[in-house]
Amino acid sequence: MRRRNAESILQAVRQQPGLSRADVARVCDLAKSTVSSVVDELVKSELVDETGSKESSRGRRPVGLMFNPNSRVAVGLSLDHNRLVIVLCNLDGIVQAVRTKKLTRRNNLQSVASIVLPELQRLLADQDLVPSKIAGAGLAVPGPLPSVPAACTEGDKLNYESLRKQLARELKCSVVIDSNTNMAALAESRLGAARDCEEALVVRLGQEVRSALIVDHKLLKGAQGRAGELGHVKAPGIERACKCGKRGCINSVAATDAILSRCQSSGAQFDDIDEVISSAIGGDRHCREALIDAGLAVGYGIAICINILAPPHLILTGRLVAAGNLLLDPLREAITKFATTDNLLNCNLVFDDSHNHIEAIGASLASLSEDDFLLNLISESSAKAIQEA
Ligand SMILES: [Zn+2]
Repeated sequence: MRRRNAESILQAVRQQPGLSRADVARVCDLAKSTVSSVVDELVKSELVDETGSKESSRGRRPVGLMFNPNSRVAVGLSLDHNRLVIVLCNLDGIVQAVRTKKLTRRNNLQSVASIVLPELQRLLADQDLVPSKIAGAGLAVPGPLPSVPAACTEGDKLNYESLRKQLARELKCSVVIDSNTNMAALAESRLGAARDCEEALVVRLGQEVRSALIVDHKLLKGAQGRAGELGHVKAPGIERACKCGKRGCINSVAATDAILSRCQSSGAQFDDIDEVISSAIGGDRHCREALIDAGLAVGYGIAICINILAPPHLILTGRLVAAGNLLLDPLREAITKFATTDNLLNCNLVFDDSHNHIEAIGASLASLSEDDFLLNLISESSAKAIQEA
């Protein structure tokens, strides 16, 4: 209860910048002496700044209180099969620093755990930050959670959870976990192209093609969190085998893994989808054809979504969007061919390549959105101050 009171004081200061201590006491319905001792602790812990008192014709104006978003950082981590991204955001979700690390197929999840912490420590040190400044963390991983994704074994799922627990132990803060696609959608809805959109569909072109539906500013995750498997829709003219065991899925031509292995089968050595995109832009015929087929298949899937859901905003994000018009022209062509004209006219289609690390940014935002996030910022000393007042 006492920490809850301290939380309500911090909440009031955050929501209404410039309140005086007396204002806060009134807003929170707490005694002025209680508010004053808690505010002293919040100022000491740098969570709250005081704007200096001013003399005016009516005498001294009381000191205004401001929430300090730069007093702590939220960590966002995203993992896919060949890349680890770590971002540090301030408490307003503004990115402060980014670190990426290439992973090889030899880095199984167990060894990834031993890479994440040293990489995070280096990033903190670069920013002159100590681990105690971490307010919370989020972990974005491949595949839907909490259920077992089609292309992921039960062992992987257990390892994601054990990685989350290990991070929470080492960082001494709560760590939220969700799929890369849901984390990307969260970032799009908070500070990206879906900002201020009540309803939107986010399609992420990454290791797999997945979608996330935002309704009333919230993610609609479906039974067992399995909504959004757009990549397993069967597209016309495709017969390739998919990892799910069926044939003709959009993923079989548009997942970055599928594109990579197709381009490698022509004899070229590509480690990464970014290299395929660069070669396609440079004129490589095999890479261009692979991206065109991916664009046509994804465009078909998006058209089906537009017909069924009529989303007012549809945001396309993920690493493949960097291919630009090589991918987007065939994608638009398929959408125009298969989507109902009226639904298409009412859909604001956005290609968002502005956030290169959107999954990790979403993960840090997820940690800032936790119900008890402000409560967890309240140090023991603030709680004690309110107890003693
Ligand atoms: Zn499939």
